[in-house]
Amino acid sequence: MSYNISIQKTETSNLDKLDFNNIPLGTTFTDHMFICDYDNGEWVNPRIIPMGMIPTHPAAMALHYGQAIFEGMKATVDSDGNPMLFRAEDNANRLNFSADRMGMPNIPTELFVDGLKQLVDLDRQWIPPIDGSALYLRPFMYADEPFIGMRAATHYKFIIMASPAGPFFSKRIKLWAEKKFIRAAQGGTGEAKAAGNYAAAIRPTELAKAKGYDQVLWLDAVEHKYIQEVGTMNIFFKIDDKFITPELDGCVLDGITRKSVIALLKDRGFEVTERKITIDEIKEASKNGILKEAFGTGTAVGIAYIQEIGLDGESIHVSHDSPVGIEINQRLNDIKTGKVEDKFDWMTKVA
Ligand code: PMP
Repeated sequence: MSYNISIQKTETSNLDKLDFNNIPLGTTFTDHMFICDYDNGEWVNPRIIPMGMIPTHPAAMALHYGQAIFEGMKATVDSDGNPMLFRAEDNANRLNFSADRMGMPNIPTELFVDGLKQLVDLDRQWIPPIDGSALYLRPFMYADEPFIGMRAATHYKFIIMASPAGPFFSKRIKLWAEKKFIRAAQGGTGEAKAAGNYAAAIRPTELAKAKGYDQVLWLDAVEHKYIQEVGTMNIFFKIDDKFITPELDGCVLDGITRKSVIALLKDRGFEVTERKITIDEIKEASKNGILKEAFGTGTAVGIAYIQEIGLDGESIHVSHDSPVGIEINQRLNDIKTGKVEDKFDWMTKVA
């Protein structure tokens, strides 16, 4: 099914204000946005309109009860300048998974992907032509019904915004293994991409930064010994010549980069095991000299190399080099920019 998306173009483009060589992080938005309303049990009025404010009733339920979920993904261009999306249907599926958990309606995959394609096609000149840069896409859904009372809302908005992002030079990061605050517990919302998860992570992240670390290494809620994720990334370790990553146990977000990196590592001949991983095991591996690499994976940065993990009174040192991580990151970028064959069929052209 193809959706009839109405398009109202802006009369005043902001594109000429953008310097592709110096894009401020997260504050620049393209000329248009996609909006759709959920009303009377169905998604209606899909439209692309000029980027701008949305009137919001102060009783909008998302503001009080937190029914708000989102996605993060990127559009890139191939060597001929054709805009492409990376694994867009996986993001649609994950948004719907989050919607189920938060008592929100699903959005049809075709509508999600059509909305993205038409928005990216219309704002294609905003995709930075510089290697390593991309157009960050932020699809999100929230309850905009004005109502005071605890129940699922009956009216929602689904919106897609786009924001150009410069190349991300990832410095090696230092993690703080957090034993007081938690991100996710069994039966909670950790495996959903729900706004509230991020709200709860802000204070612990600030405290870790004040101690001189870049990100929080999240541990399990009960024993504070099993590794879950890092900041807003999944995590991988190379022990000797094999890779391990925490299993999707209900507390870990099913990262699109995570599953892509698993596929690329396996394709490269590495063994990758998804299982429970304790912080003590990583400490031991470091002491024994077999902790060869550690990195985080996520849409925003690709692969972020980990230098050190701080714990109460001690720190775990990771090897100074991430040769496999660097190689996999390069391959991922080359697939996203059409430089190598897309043998996994991950890319979709927008037009
Ligand atoms: N974990 C969390 C908590 C995240 O917010 C993200 C970013 N979406 C990730 C992992 C990485 O997921 P992805 O590779 O899909 O960006």
